[in-house]
Amino acid sequence: MSFRFTLHRTDASARRGTFDTPHGPVETPAFMPVGTQAAVKALTIDQVRSTGAEMILGNTYHLALRPGESIIRDLGGLHRFMGWDGPILTDSGGFQLFSLAQNTKVTEQQATFRSHIDGALFELSPERAIAIQEALGSDVVMVLDHVIALPADDNAIRDACDRTIRWAARCKAAATRSNQAQFAIVQGGLNPELRVWCARQLAELDFPGYAVGGLSVGESPEEMYAVLDVVCPVMPADKPRYLMGVGTPRDLLNAVSRGIDLFDCVMPTRNGRNALAFTDEGPLRLRNQVHQRDERPLEVGCPCLACRHSRAYLRHLFLADEMLGPILLTHHNLTYYQRLLAGAREAIEQGRFAAYMDQKLKPAGG
Ligand SMILES: [Zn+2]
Repeated sequence: MSFRFTLHRTDASARRGTFDTPHGPVETPAFMPVGTQAAVKALTIDQVRSTGAEMILGNTYHLALRPGESIIRDLGGLHRFMGWDGPILTDSGGFQLFSLAQNTKVTEQQATFRSHIDGALFELSPERAIAIQEALGSDVVMVLDHVIALPADDNAIRDACDRTIRWAARCKAAATRSNQAQFAIVQGGLNPELRVWCARQLAELDFPGYAVGGLSVGESPEEMYAVLDVVCPVMPADKPRYLMGVGTPRDLLNAVSRGIDLFDCVMPTRNGRNALAFTDEGPLRLRNQVHQRDERPLEVGCPCLACRHSRAYLRHLFLADEMLGPILLTHHNLTYYQRLLAGAREAIEQGRFAAYMDQKLKPAGG
């Protein structure tokens, strides 16, 4: 078995671990940059690696629509296609069915939707979601889940939650490769009883890892933390725990403090392209006039490519619409996220995570 999760130590509920995969280890807690279409937007693979990232995420929905999983399979799989030899996690498309696709219809058998690219009709069943991810060849594959919009009534949430569990069992049965690990996804909206029930049902199916899904869809941070407070204690302690699509630096540290090990989010990359830089003093909006003559880097001591330049220069790049601006800020933001979690790992090892979190979040938060 090429997958193993080793828990080195805990500090209150925060966990310091190593997740071994066929493409190398991931030190946790870890942040995975999002490479939706087999590219982390604006960066070369070497630049992604230089931020400290060990594992990246690709999106099944996007890659199945374009270029199509059979093309990627025939070209040697996703690792070779995009030139990344580290671990890759692919999602199942469940979230995109909910957020991007048009005319999505969910039946017990499968979801049917129209492509957001050309309107073509597409069918995604649990078995198909696994077959696509097997063709892509990612290390961690996500089960297909049924994501619904919040707020929703308890009956709708329970129905989607039930289906998510049945689909997880079908995904497990559909797996044909031994060098991929399937993670199940806990749903249940903001309902604590449903979340706990869903987590327990999925734990009985014995997956190599578990994710918390259906969050970061418009609820408040406090509502999200409340879900983690009830879900984390019933997730298997010896398996990695992944919080999908979250979030701000504040969200990440709060989730780590509750026992989450893995994260992905478009926030550092998307905000970087929009001239927002994450720093310990809070976010900087580079288009603001205040940076016009500022010779300081975004953050003193940051080893990224952007911090070799002044805030004034970075601002100029955005105002002049130079593509270097989004490249540099993406590199800075991903470096910021990686350093934030490297600091968290070190703090957990030393039993001072609470103090680290306080120190990082005190000034302005993120
Ligand atoms: Zn920097």
